[in-house]
Amino acid sequence: MSDISCKIIVGLEIHVQLNTKTKIFCGCALAFGGVANTRVCPVCIGMPGVMPVMNKKAYEYSVLAGLALNCNIPSFTKWDRKSYYYPDLPKNYQISQYDLPMSEHGYIEIPLEGGETKRIRILRAHLEEDAGKNTHTLGNFSAVDLNRAGTPLLEIVTEPDMNNGAEVKALAVELQRIVRYLGVSLADMQKGHMRFEPNINLHITKDGKVYKTPISEVKNLNSFRALEGSVAYEAKRQLNEFLEHGTTMEMGNKATYGWDDVNECTVLQRVKEEAHDYRYFPEPDLVPIEMNEEWLNEIKKGLCELPIAKQKRFVSEYKLSDYDAGVLTADRATGEFFDAAVAAGATPKRVCNLITQVGAKLANEAGCGVAELGVDAEVLGKLAKMVDDSEVSASASVTIFEEMVKTKKAPEVIAEEMNLMQKSDAGEIEALVDAVIAENEKAVADVKEGGKKSKKSMGFLMGQVMQKSKGQANPKVVSQLLAQKLS
Ligand code: ZN
Ligand code: MN
Repeated sequence: MSDISCKIIVGLEIHVQLNTKTKIFCGCALAFGGVANTRVCPVCIGMPGVMPVMNKKAYEYSVLAGLALNCNIPSFTKWDRKSYYYPDLPKNYQISQYDLPMSEHGYIEIPLEGGETKRIRILRAHLEEDAGKNTHTLGNFSAVDLNRAGTPLLEIVTEPDMNNGAEVKALAVELQRIVRYLGVSLADMQKGHMRFEPNINLHITKDGKVYKTPISEVKNLNSFRALEGSVAYEAKRQLNEFLEHGTTMEMGNKATYGWDDVNECTVLQRVKEEAHDYRYFPEPDLVPIEMNEEWLNEIKKGLCELPIAKQKRFVSEYKLSDYDAGVLTADRATGEFFDAAVAAGATPKRVCNLITQVGAKLANEAGCGVAELGVDAEVLGKLAKMVDDSEVSASASVTIFEEMVKTKKAPEVIAEEMNLMQKSDAGEIEALVDAVIAENEKAVADVKEGGKKSKKSMGFLMGQVMQKSKGQANPKVVSQLLAQKLS
């Protein structure tokens, strides 16, 4: 057997649909679904002689995303025609950006297991229009729906810096967090707002020599599952091809594949066109864009603390686990809600538990985010503080949180009304403690002896006192009193 090692190399192209009200070069509304060809006009169906006009918001959204991806924003960019023929593109070209994209040379920091991060370089990001959609539901005929034609897309191209499916998925999820934080895209996978095209190949080292397998570009993946699956499948397929037939890049460097979701495998589509096949040339109907300092500064105001920075801060500032910090920063509103609740004076871990264990469930039931439950962050912070101060038990806080969502009443009011306040009055609790000590000679003797059974018996006595108080005694006070009396 010869000595073989294998490295997976993956770069990604991602199309992100921007969340503008109208299309990129006309005034037609952006929406999802609807009756075919009802959101169209002569511009987006590609009638000859019409004049496109750039949607300024779409451009600003893509610059904002470019800034968040640490890209350079050149002061001059232009539009180009990318020519190809397909029924869903009646004008026979797509308006895109070729040699002068609106942003380039950035990077994205992606979270890995255990709080580690990895930097993936971004080659470029440019703006372009989407095509329409062919549908095949009319028996022997195909139909074309141009409602989607002219939708603004941000195309982001990474360098081939990812080395396994988990990293590829982490990048996709991180990018989704970023564009949602910025509000530039709803990034709803089910609605095709994010489409992925991984470029995958292997660098195989065999007997000290490196062989590169042909690159597979897998088209139009619209789920994280398919994305991760395609990387794993291609890695296996390419290794087999190499071992069985010695296939390397010299035998054809690139091919395009589709993804079969049912059989979870890639399907060969065609050998890749080179850029010159698209006959790119400058779009004569649109003026180039000049970006000045003033405009750029205006756009920069839309930046915010980015998800990965927030996640790292939650770990360092609040001493949360990376996992908890990741859950709290999954969306911007929850992260900001958490910050505000902690600012109200409760311990971060307590607030975190209330949000992730109780709030998340309530939000899920209500079909909204935790921040939209109708409970102010400060008020939730107050509830967490009541637990911290042993005014209510942790289990009572669950009931109180649920009641807060239902009634919008203050936590202390609910606690009183539902008789959930813990008793900290030492005199009252002392009477219960004395009674329990008198009733449980055996357990008391075990504790006093300090032997093996001591801890268990102490727990038993605690339980007895709590039971007598109907769960309302402050456990801290109970344990203090018991310790005092039995030492
Ligand atoms: Zn239109
Ligand atoms: Mn594209």
